[in-house]
Parts: sequence; structure tokens; C-alpha cells
Amino acid sequence: MTETNRNLLRFIDACPTAWHACADLASRLLAEGYAELNETEDWPVAPGGKYFVRRNGSSLIAFRIPEGAFPGFLMMAAHTDSPAFKLRGKPDAPAAGLYTRLSVERYGSMLCAPWLDRPLSAAGRVTVRENGKLVTKLVKIDRDLMVIPNLAIHMDRTANDGKKYDIKTDMLPLFGSEKAAGRMQQLAAEAAGVTEEDLVAADLYLYPRTPGVCFGADEEYIAAPRLDDLQCVFGCFEGFLSAKAGKNAPLLCVFDNEEVGSTTKQGANSDFLVDTLWRVCEALGRDLYRSIAASFMASADNAHAVHPNHPEYADSQDRPVMNGGIVIKHHANQKYTTDAVTEAVFAEICRRAGVPVQHYSNRADLRGGTTLGNISTAHVSVDSIDIGLAQLAMHSCYETAGAQDTDYLIRAARAYYESGFCHTAEGIEL
Ligand code: ZN
Repeated sequence: MTETNRNLLRFIDACPTAWHACADLASRLLAEGYAELNETEDWPVAPGGKYFVRRNGSSLIAFRIPEGAFPGFLMMAAHTDSPAFKLRGKPDAPAAGLYTRLSVERYGSMLCAPWLDRPLSAAGRVTVRENGKLVTKLVKIDRDLMVIPNLAIHMDRTANDGKKYDIKTDMLPLFGSEKAAGRMQQLAAEAAGVTEEDLVAADLYLYPRTPGVCFGADEEYIAAPRLDDLQCVFGCFEGFLSAKAGKNAPLLCVFDNEEVGSTTKQGANSDFLVDTLWRVCEALGRDLYRSIAASFMASADNAHAVHPNHPEYADSQDRPVMNGGIVIKHHANQKYTTDAVTEAVFAEICRRAGVPVQHYSNRADLRGGTTLGNISTAHVSVDSIDIGLAQLAMHSCYETAGAQDTDYLIRAARAYYESGFCHTAEGIEL
């Protein structure tokens, strides 16, 4: 396994939720000398500085300010959340006097079947009473705690003929015998280091415990939970951190809640990015509008590779493959923001960096998904492109992607941030 993939799998394993992903990135940024800004305080942003800010603990924006004059911001975006089952407030659901199950609700749109018959645990954040204050803490109960059991084929002979999953019945995890009722609260309190009485509220999600692996005859592939979109978060972040100074201010945003439409206070469809740009420009005495007009956004979210067993779902022309490099996404109705200008900019940066690019369009009769780019640029109207890495089984709890592609994204992101992008009336310099 390459060092990049080892680090990617470590990151995915450490980050079962969006809060953990932001905490992991924040600790790396602090170690690299970035200063954390707080939205409730003044921002002492100055030339030559490195900063980051979190909102809700689950979205994060990091940026560096060049020493001298700079035209605008080179931005990348990815998302920290993945589809999962959220534990409900009163999580224990007794069954037939024999078992304790946990009550769950769906977050995002997942493939249900892969969640069955594999070890699961719970992670998220809790709010606790501590020294007279309400304090938020991350919890990750690092134990095999539950399984959502399938019904045996002998009891449902139609199980292989297309199964409809009823969340309130089929997807309740088995947590223990009838004696386990109430134990979830206790385990969450223990994980947070408080008594049960001091645990006031919780946002806890199930996560699969199956570790990520490289597989294939030549270990060509990587399989892991949450590749959509932690693979892009990781790749963009490594490229952002390692980029030498370019002409513009490099900025990376990772947003929560993409899987539920981004319309939350910390999602891409919020004012988090524009607020951040506004406050940075104000601190530097810059004109916000001119800065935005000179900026560029690359939104990175994984794309569908041609499926080995179902190639017919791919477009006849745009057929991305795993290990084929950066996928540029196209959509005539602008669910993906790519256009002839932005494609040319990013493809040229990749060409100069020796990173291959390929193209994705939905098969013309399929609706496809949405992503961050067009939502984010509705608030910050900049030239924008949608990119991603090719993967299989998107929204399974165990997805497959190319083992080489994360390196391609790191190299592309680094080259992008280091570029001399400058959009003038005469044309675009890189
Ligand atoms: Zn995604």
C-alpha cells in the first residue's frame, strides 16, 4: 500500500463523522502553524498569515494570505458528511422482550443493504454540563457495538428479487439483550468522560467498523467507508497544505450537510464562505467584489466510474475509470458548474502538472446527483468547475475507488494553488 493510501485510510478511520473530520484537519492545521479564528471574535488577519475557521464544528475554511498584493482567492471545496443512520433521542427500542435495538433515522440517501450484517458503532458529538457550562465534545465509541441483522433466506425467499427496506423495521440495529436498554446513553457519557446525568443532548450516528483496504491483483483499488467525499477532502487538503506560494490566496472549504442538500447554517448553501471572504477582505482593506471577481472555485466531489457489471448506466461518450485521474463533470443544466472557460483553466493546470483528466456526464436520460459547486457559487459568484475522483458503489457504507487517484488529486490541487491564475480583460494567465 502506498503511503498516500495508508494516510487516507488513517484519516477515514479517524473520521466517522463530519465533526471528527474537521477536528482532524484542525489539529493538522494547528501543528502547521495556522491560527484558528472564531466567528464571535475579531479577526486579526494580516499579510503572510495562515488561518482557519470552523462553523458548527463540522464545516471548516482554511486559507493563507500572501505577503504582497494578490488578485483573488483560489478556492477548493469538498464535503465532510456521508449518508448514515442517526440515533434518535430515545434510542432504545425493545423487541419481543428478548433484545434491545436502537432507534434510527436516515441521514442522506444511502444504499441500505451494505449496512446489514457488519459490525457497527456510534460516533458524533454530545453536549455536556461541565463546570457550570454547556460544552460540546466529540465521541467515538471505538467498539463493535451492534449489527443490523438480515432476515434469513429461508424466511424470505424473495429477498434476492429486489428488496424494499423499511427503515423503521428493517434497519434497526441489534444492540444487546433486553438488559442493554439504556446502555447507549451510558456508553456515550463514558466516551465523553462525564456522568450520564451530565450528558444533556447528543448527535450520534452509526458508522461501519470494517477497516479500509487496498485490493485487486495489483492492489489497484481502495475500498473503505466514506470515500465520498473524504477522499476529496483528504486530497484537496494535502494539496492545499503542500502548495508553495502562488499568485493568489489559497483557500480550502470543507462543508457539512451536502448529503441533505446543503441548506444548513454550516452547509455550502449558507453564508459561511461569503462571510469568511467578507471578513478577510475587511481585515485586509480589500474590495470584496473585485476579490471575488478575480477568484476561482474547484468543487471536488466523487464521480461515478463505469461499473464493471453494469456499464450500460454510464454515458456512451464520457466514461470515467478508476485510476484514470481527475474527473471533470459536465451538466448542460449546470448542476455541475463546469463551462468551457473553467474546464480549460483546470485541464491546462492538470496538463502542466502531468495529471490525467477524464470527463463525466450523466447518461442523458438519467437525472444524476447534485453537489457543492452550483450551491456554493449561488452565494459567491466566481468561475467554478466541478471535479471528482471516479468510484463505484457511491453511498454504500463501503465504497471502491482507484488506488492511484488520491495522488492525482493531491498533485492537481497543489498545481492549482501554486498557479499564477489571473483573469484579465485580455484573457487568463496561469
Ligand atoms: Zn459527495
